[in-house]
Amino acid sequence: MNRVALKNELDSLHFDNSFIRKLPGDLQADNFIRQVQHACYSKIRPTPVANPQLVAYSREVAGELGLPESSCNSELFTMVFGGNSLLKGMEPYSMCYGGHQFGNWAGQLGDGRAINLGEVITKSGGRQILQLKGAGPTPYSRSADGLAVLRSSVREFLCSEAMFHLGIPTTRALSLITTGESVLRDMFYDGHPKNEPGAVVCRVAPSFLRFGNFEILATRQELSLLKQLVDYTITTDFPHLGPPSKAVYLNWFQEVCNTTLNMILHWMRVGFVHGVMNTDNMSILGITIDYGPYGWLEGYEPNWTPNTTDAQGKRYSYSNQPHMAQWNLLQLANSIYPILQDKEAIEEILQSYSTQFQTGWNKMMADKLGLATFTGITDDTLIGDLIDLLQEVETDMTIFFRNLSSLSLDSSGMDVKTADHPLYEAYYSPEQRSDAYCIRMNNWLLAYKNRLKGEQILPELRQQKMNRVNPKYVLRNYLAQLAIDRAETGDNSLVQELLEVLRNPYDEQLNNKRYAEKRPEWARNKPGCSMLSCSS
Ligand code: AMP
Ligand code: MG
Repeated sequence: MNRVALKNELDSLHFDNSFIRKLPGDLQADNFIRQVQHACYSKIRPTPVANPQLVAYSREVAGELGLPESSCNSELFTMVFGGNSLLKGMEPYSMCYGGHQFGNWAGQLGDGRAINLGEVITKSGGRQILQLKGAGPTPYSRSADGLAVLRSSVREFLCSEAMFHLGIPTTRALSLITTGESVLRDMFYDGHPKNEPGAVVCRVAPSFLRFGNFEILATRQELSLLKQLVDYTITTDFPHLGPPSKAVYLNWFQEVCNTTLNMILHWMRVGFVHGVMNTDNMSILGITIDYGPYGWLEGYEPNWTPNTTDAQGKRYSYSNQPHMAQWNLLQLANSIYPILQDKEAIEEILQSYSTQFQTGWNKMMADKLGLATFTGITDDTLIGDLIDLLQEVETDMTIFFRNLSSLSLDSSGMDVKTADHPLYEAYYSPEQRSDAYCIRMNNWLLAYKNRLKGEQILPELRQQKMNRVNPKYVLRNYLAQLAIDRAETGDNSLVQELLEVLRNPYDEQLNNKRYAEKRPEWARNKPGCSMLSCSS
């Protein structure tokens, strides 16, 4: 009997690997740790794994690549994205970059555990690079093993997709695959390493270039290669700017500042804290990249950071993120200065970041409050007072803003102290609020309602608008940990369920309300739920 070969769309993916075609690579072909000079990448194959098993995939990302669900469920898919096979047209490589880590120049870092498989040209003509994370050592692995554990891979997979559905620029995640191998990690850096299940995530983005890719070339004074990389980036990822020229270089830097700022404003809007905003973790496209010890604000604490390594300095805390992005942009500016050569223009662009941030922040807060426009004279005080109040008693940021939209303008007598008040459930210990606090919050609500009364919009429409910027569902730190705990026992159902819930973060989803609840008390100080290390 003839066997009918089932068509797998994976075999029809069209690759155009422009990065390695147009830029110089490492001349050394062997895989050992080294400094890689005069090159933007090293060719390297993923290390095959013992028993790749699919945990989850994103159907939206697959769809973007032209892959139907049947392809995602095929054995070939698991083999390719677990690191055991290459498709025709794939030419895997790891990129060379450096970075400022916690304010200090760290030298060459590079893709220590990431391998770009190839650049897919999608049906719509877009370019999407497929990248495995955790697929084995590369010349950039330094003292580490090139691997990733399931714990951090679940977090990266779910959060990339959650961010996308929240409307936040981000790298995407196509798949999450366990390797059947164990990986040794000292999760708390306390001398107690443990074997954990290994995993590989396939990340997808139009470019994985980071500020650090430019910094390393500038630091090494490899200036003609730096120019080549800048020109490549503009031509490939910023074609709308036109062919590279002095004016275009400046426009490009301006655009990188704009997109970075836009990303940060989105983070601030939803209470996302990246945790490790080093320049090697800043995308040249202004998209969120490298989900490590990130977290979501639960109680509104501006100086909160989930990263234990940063617990003292709080360099990358929630409220410091806008400033840190600007600091990182300054490092990028320093490194591309030899190409741009216009100190005044660069300084002007960097300075305008601060004013643009203020304008963007005001607009974002006005949106969150359901105001059509920000009016300085009234809204500066309104917003400032609210931010003070939110910090005074432990108040869940997500629930507070979401429930604010259901405030009725008529019920002026309603007291925030009572359990039927829409904001009551935002408080972690509602009964511990002082009378003075409740009076001040009631006064604020009165001022807010008066402000809303001047708006020319029907209350239902305002509520709808507010609910499109104030999500009901975010990947709460403890939810990710629950999904990890289950996945580590081989039960992937919660990973898949959370992926479903997070596809519609602005919808009420009456059957999924439990995922919108505030963090339970047991999770307050539980590792993985409140504080995370970089160990991954
Ligand atoms: P991160 O702060 O996690 O973005 O990582 C900083 C640098 O360390 C990057 O160059 C990573 O590729 C590298 N790195 C992190 N974890 C590993 C690992 N397990 N194996 C090899 N390189 C790693
Ligand atoms: Mg990184």
